[in-house]
Amino acid sequence: MTARVLIVDDILTNVRLLEARLSAEYFEVVTASSGAEALAICAREIIDIVLLDVMMPGMDGYEVCTRLKADPNTSHIPVVMVTALDQPSYRLRGLEAGADDFLTKPVDDVQLMARVKSLVRLKALTDELRARAAAAGEASAGSVAMEAIVDTDGRILVIDSDIRAADRINGFLGAQHKVELLINPDNAAQVASEGDYELVLISMALEAHDPLRIASQMRSADPTRTLPLILIADEGDRARVVRGLEIGINDFITRPIERNELRARVRTQIRRFRYAKELRRSLTDTMALAVTDQLTGLYNRRYFERHLAAMLGRARDQAREMAMMIIDLDHFKQVNDSRGHVFGDQVLKEFADRLRRNIRGVDLPCRLGGEEFVVLMPDTDLGQAQGVAERVRCAVAERPFYAGESQPQQITVSVGIAINEQATDSPDDLLKRADIALYRAKREGRNRVVHDAA
Ligand code: GH3
Ligand code: MG
Ligand code: MG
Repeated sequence: MTARVLIVDDILTNVRLLEARLSAEYFEVVTASSGAEALAICAREIIDIVLLDVMMPGMDGYEVCTRLKADPNTSHIPVVMVTALDQPSYRLRGLEAGADDFLTKPVDDVQLMARVKSLVRLKALTDELRARAAAAGEASAGSVAMEAIVDTDGRILVIDSDIRAADRINGFLGAQHKVELLINPDNAAQVASEGDYELVLISMALEAHDPLRIASQMRSADPTRTLPLILIADEGDRARVVRGLEIGINDFITRPIERNELRARVRTQIRRFRYAKELRRSLTDTMALAVTDQLTGLYNRRYFERHLAAMLGRARDQAREMAMMIIDLDHFKQVNDSRGHVFGDQVLKEFADRLRRNIRGVDLPCRLGGEEFVVLMPDTDLGQAQGVAERVRCAVAERPFYAGESQPQQITVSVGIAINEQATDSPDDLLKRADIALYRAKREGRNRVVHDAA
């Protein structure tokens, strides 16, 4: 995992010190010696994380952070404040400015790598989602605003076999979040996976359990794979914390726990988790919209065209058969004219339902447009295709459509079938043959299935 880190400090020695450490871990480093320069770089280049000195002449770190977080183009870049002053009030100002994390000078190596790696990992995830959203061609997913994400009322699980220690954490977080305590960690990973949590805190001082084993179990189970994990460590746990970071914990905090630090780390993890979830949800919606037909929920023409070529290529490579059927509703113009367009729409919806119920899960049902549909059927020979087409035809003709009204409407469909018969068959050839077959079905009296051989 590599990333571009921007180091901002007015003192060159400080810059060089951090630069040397990060370069040694193969991070790409960019430097700035003032707040204005840092803002210019972030506006111009791709930066994955900013290490920001607080005390700088002119524009100080708080202001730089506030500006980065206020600009939608840079608000997703994680900012770590680096301060010589290890005092809660300074952290609080950093939090208000929107900082994601803090480091205290002199910067400790384990801390530095832990914070940087954890934030870079989170950013990599959100970057990927943003990129996919952009590729799906919709602004909606890309525009999920980090600032709009609420970071209170988190559902948090605290795993600690020491009741008093667990209670203390509850005391620190309980006012802002919903905290549950797990004092007996026998089935900790399972409890975490069943509880719809947004964050898990694991004490490293468990009596009879290995906290890293719990962490690794959570990382390998689907429901908890991306669930944020924070370790609560003691001074002597450094080596195991490093191991935890390799396993994929997101952060750690060292005892004695400082209340504001804990709150800040918890909020950062919850905010990032919710942001990623929101992006994913909005992306799923976007992609679903791009491939499905609004009225029927079947795949749309664009999706059909993309998949026809792929499915045909696969069938050819594996020397397997595939079938296509085009289905057209008979005399549908008359139905619209006599019963109205709204009724017609409902019939199309109900037809789509009947269609779906009579094909296999691997078959691809699409609405080509209007009252014309197509189904792609992999691994299907002519006999099977005729069977399916007949079943669909009957499912339409055997029962009238009501479409939410009391007066029934008889509907029938005509179906044209084509099979990939030659190695040279193109998507167009197949479509053309199915179309010719459909035309014949119409001519021969409708409500029937016809196959066109090459
Ligand atoms: P045929 O048996 O030859 O297919 O006759 P038809 O009337 O079904 O064919 P034609 O192509 O002449 O007319 C198709 C009609 O389908 C036109 C329009 O009234 C109707 N239609 C197309 N799309 C929609 C739609 O989205 N909603 C509704 N309600 N009607 C549609
Ligand atoms: Mg300074
Ligand atoms: Mg028609």
